[in-house]
Amino acid sequence: MTISQHALDLADRVEAFVREVVIPYEQDPRRDHHGAPLDAMVWEMREKARAAGVLTPHIQSNGDHLSQRETAVVLIRSGLSPLGPLACNTNAPDEGNMYLLGHVGSPQIKERFLAKLHAGRARSAFLMTEPAEWGGAGADPSMMKTLCRMEGNHWVIDGQKCFITGAEGAEVGIVMAKAEQGACMFVVDLPNPAIRTVDVPNTIDSSMPGGHATIAIENLRVPADQMLGQAGEGFQYAQVRLSPARLSHCMRWLGACIRAQEIATDYACRREAFGKPLIEHEGVGFMLAENRILLKQCELMIDWCAGVLDTGSLGTVESSMTKVSVSEALMKIADNCVQVMGGMGVTGKTVVEQVFREVRAFRIYDGPTEVHKWSLAKKIKREWKQAQPA
Ligand SMILES: Cc1cc2nc3c(=O)[nH]c(=O)nc-3n(C[C@H](O)[C@H](O)[C@H](O)COP(=O)(O)OP(=O)(O)OC[C@H]3O[C@@H](n4cnc5c(N)ncnc54)[C@H](O)[C@@H]3O)c2cc1C
Repeated sequence: MTISQHALDLADRVEAFVREVVIPYEQDPRRDHHGAPLDAMVWEMREKARAAGVLTPHIQSNGDHLSQRETAVVLIRSGLSPLGPLACNTNAPDEGNMYLLGHVGSPQIKERFLAKLHAGRARSAFLMTEPAEWGGAGADPSMMKTLCRMEGNHWVIDGQKCFITGAEGAEVGIVMAKAEQGACMFVVDLPNPAIRTVDVPNTIDSSMPGGHATIAIENLRVPADQMLGQAGEGFQYAQVRLSPARLSHCMRWLGACIRAQEIATDYACRREAFGKPLIEHEGVGFMLAENRILLKQCELMIDWCAGVLDTGSLGTVESSMTKVSVSEALMKIADNCVQVMGGMGVTGKTVVEQVFREVRAFRIYDGPTEVHKWSLAKKIKREWKQAQPA
């Protein structure tokens, strides 16, 4: 599938908006809070994105979506600042949640929940992970302990969740729970007295509205028509969200690391040590060269996986390989950028420090690297077994 001129033009407009309007916000003190000040800043940036015609550029309110290859060219550009996705409404978890609702939501669900997310005036949360202390779902989703049962026309849900990005202040929640039939997925209005924030722990990242909350769910009653799909199909629906959501994280973080490389390059070309610009010292030049190679590898992996998804495949294996490869490469790139910039690299004076801090968690969410490799190794063994003579 080719990338349309429309998507290329959109990507150019998104990049211009991020560079001209969003980057100045990187020094705004409201940036460093998960709470209300950051939300206020996001709404302010979104009004500007709306005026510039770059708000929610990748999906329509009825769920129609750019192809994945087109999404890549747009989301990479929105990621040029860590604040860009928030401003353009291409950020996690809203972007993945909008994709899911657009794909599996009934017309009523789209109208009630997707429309306000698409308009960029509400936030959402995806509630799957559960506390380790409780023995709940983490790297292994089959350990899910949040339960749901039918009572008349309602499902009743009880359980605990953790690391729920954006839960504080969200208006839409997608909740996963287990019934007798298996995993189920529900879409609910937030806030809800039955969904209580236990705490919002300090985390390595900033600039995530709502932070990553620990949640208690107590006697949550959800009308039956707010289940997405059928009882027992929850993990299937999670799969629909999984590959595109993994890939869009790769896109946004690639944009951030392209920018970090620009800043590190500028530093290395201007700053001198031992009688010449840093970049002319092999140790520094090689780090920037290695980064250039890794950035291209990331771009190609994303484009390859996007092409697979555009054929209609779930792309589970491809997105798993891409997620590992890109998250590990981007961590290395961000680390190299910090190193090239010496002390400046660890200060908040440039966005490189934030990119380095925040990209770290990408090696964990949407499946830790080790889990993807473990699952790939199982597949390799299966294939080997099948190839053996009977
Ligand atoms: C910033 C951030 C945002 C998040 N946002 C959300 C959200 O919005 N909604 C949500 O539901 N969840 C969210 N999560 C949770 C995330 O999906 C989980 O952290 C992830 O699935 C891992 O689960 P866990 O933390 O319980 O790790 P554990 O299950 O305790 O695993 C710990 C480590 O064990 C290792 N490991 C596990 N299994 C294997 C294996 N088979 N082979 C080898 N090693 C293995 C891995 O190194 C792994 O990192 C978020 C997490 C972070 C860090």
